Amino acid sequence: MSTAAGHGEHTSRAGARQLVSSGVRDRLDRPMRDLRISVTDRCNFRCVYCMPKTVFGRDYAFLDRNELLSFEEIERICRVSAAHGVRKIRLTGGEPLLRKGIEELIERLAALRTPEGEPLEIALTTNGSALATKATALKAAGLTRVTVSIDSLDDELFQSINDVRFPVARVLAGIDAAHEAGLGPIKLNMVVKRGVNDGEIVEMASHFKDSPFTLRFIEYMDVGTTNGWSLDEVVPSAEVIARISAVHPLEQIAPVVTGEVAKRWRYRDGGGEIGVISSVTNAFCGTCNRARISTEGKLFTCLFASEGHDLRALLRGGADDDELAAAMASIWGARDDRYSEIRSELTPGLRQARNRIEMSYIGG
Ligand code: SAM
Ligand code: SF4
Ligand code: SF4
Repeated sequence: MSTAAGHGEHTSRAGARQLVSSGVRDRLDRPMRDLRISVTDRCNFRCVYCMPKTVFGRDYAFLDRNELLSFEEIERICRVSAAHGVRKIRLTGGEPLLRKGIEELIERLAALRTPEGEPLEIALTTNGSALATKATALKAAGLTRVTVSIDSLDDELFQSINDVRFPVARVLAGIDAAHEAGLGPIKLNMVVKRGVNDGEIVEMASHFKDSPFTLRFIEYMDVGTTNGWSLDEVVPSAEVIARISAVHPLEQIAPVVTGEVAKRWRYRDGGGEIGVISSVTNAFCGTCNRARISTEGKLFTCLFASEGHDLRALLRGGADDDELAAAMASIWGARDDRYSEIRSELTPGLRQARNRIEMSYIGG
């Protein structure tokens, strides 16, 4: 745990024990700022690039309820993470809005404070299918903002990508409901896969230009082992920018926060901005400050890690907050992951034969 900071002292504040940590740093001097938690491995969509029916079919064994982290367990991990430097928590999945009682979890997380006494940002990434009904309750529970995945506006194409015939109009209604509920500024994620929805790039950009929403184009990644990834299917962000710019001229703008994964571009005519996330063609490991917790409580220090660290075993084995804090500091302190950078250094097209985790298991 070479560079991990000290922790374990506690003071009393309003009767509650407060862990004190000066923040953890990994071996490449990266802090832990962003915590992504997968709250369910289930999903009502079967997006072809994420949970293809051939793998996630009727017989697929999803986790039992007692295997999932409980809300108490998630809250404890988040409290300790906040002491270690985390400022933003993102709930993901699977489809996080399928987790029963998600509003109660959000309430608990919204009550947490940083060592400076500030609330954390609580965000959620969703396929949008349940937003129209849940947006108001999510806001009331304390959710700060949502990111909605939407890969096409063409209903036929959208339905074929989610592969459960879910209409795009219902997702668009969910996005509007979230906006009205105050869950903005809302980001929209479009995963671009060549030959599938790259024909929709300009259409999507035009549709959300001059709207309150920021559309982000994500390079299709080689996560997991079930999506049959090939480099030919990746549309480099530079190509996305060129295609949009030919119709609506764009200019790049500076990032707002360190570790921001999306590169920001704005329309020269003042029509708002877009983002591109170039996980394949322009790795951003150098500033990566994300920790991920899988559905059953494993801490992953990289989206492409093959093994996680079992925090659930610690929690269920009776570890107190100090022990949990020490374990997390030690794991983060030993972190030296830079998978995407290494992949870029290798010959393009070379696929690593590793046992990687699935996106639906770890979340986005
Ligand atoms: N179900 C929610 C949703 O779709 O927004 C949350 C979980 S999903 C795994 C999180 C994000 O990961 C989504 O925006 C999805 O499009 C993206 N994603 C899934 N597989 C991907 C892949 N192979 N490459 C890039 N993004 C991917
Ligand atoms: Fe479900 Fe999200 Fe994966 Fe699509 S991308 S299958 S909505 S978890
Ligand atoms: Fe972070 Fe790993 Fe992605 Fe690099 S490959 S940006 S270390 S999650």
